[in-house]
Amino acid sequence: MIAKDLMSKGENILAEAGRANARFDSRTLFMSVTGLDNTGLLMSQREQVSSGTYEAYMELIHRRAAGEPLQHITGEQGFMGLTFKVGPSVLIPRPETELLVEEALEILRSEYGKDEAAAPGILDICTGSGAIGIAVKKLLPEAEVTLSDISAEALETAGVNAGLNECKVELVESDMFSALEGREFHMILCNPPYISDAEIETLDEEVRDHEPRTALSGGTDGLDFYRIIAREAADHIEAGGWLLMEIGYDQGESVPALMQNMGDTRVLKDLNGLDRVVIVHRR
Ligand code: GLN
Repeated sequence: MIAKDLMSKGENILAEAGRANARFDSRTLFMSVTGLDNTGLLMSQREQVSSGTYEAYMELIHRRAAGEPLQHITGEQGFMGLTFKVGPSVLIPRPETELLVEEALEILRSEYGKDEAAAPGILDICTGSGAIGIAVKKLLPEAEVTLSDISAEALETAGVNAGLNECKVELVESDMFSALEGREFHMILCNPPYISDAEIETLDEEVRDHEPRTALSGGTDGLDFYRIIAREAADHIEAGGWLLMEIGYDQGESVPALMQNMGDTRVLKDLNGLDRVVIVHRR
């Protein structure tokens, strides 16, 4: 069989299984098996595939057809133009989260852009794969970035990702702020688990059954982690510093209300017009 026909076969299996991006996924899995990039894929459309490649590819297609996330099969996800290793112990970085990183960089560059000596201390709490903090460090190398997570497994993945992206960061295993006693940062970044218990059951099965519950669940009303942040974050942010959090589409009022005493709050919408990021400028 030639590559092109094998990919069509894969696409059909995925489409029949109800996978939305069957064509994209079938090609991505082919590239994953063969190690080809986009150009290589285009050039080898008419080449015969070996039986080894055929079997390895079909195995991935069947895993994907059964609902395993594409990123768990390929083991990676792009975020802010960088590649991150992902697996079942971390949330797969989402494109919406890039808004938080872009906004953080804009604030930091406007404050520090002209002063090369300054080194803002930044904490990415609930770091998971490390995507947020590592992207900030990569795009603003003078920042001193700390990544923290309650999960040792997640933190290990974050460490691997820092290495892959050639970033020097600090890793701290911590249940929210518990191991960060006495530490102050210029900016705290956080994409906490924020899905309510009731809503978790309604999530797409790919997310619900494959991504870590601890990275999704924000308790009964989804606000558990924002309450901890509202209570404790101010002790860890310098006066005049910043707190940027991702929120769920329906938390654009509840989360700023919780943060009122900390400073001035602002809500940003994502590309779909949904409330997505809350910015607090600490007084
Ligand atoms: N900080 C990580 C991300 O945004 C993980 C977030 C989480 O696990 N809730 O991708």
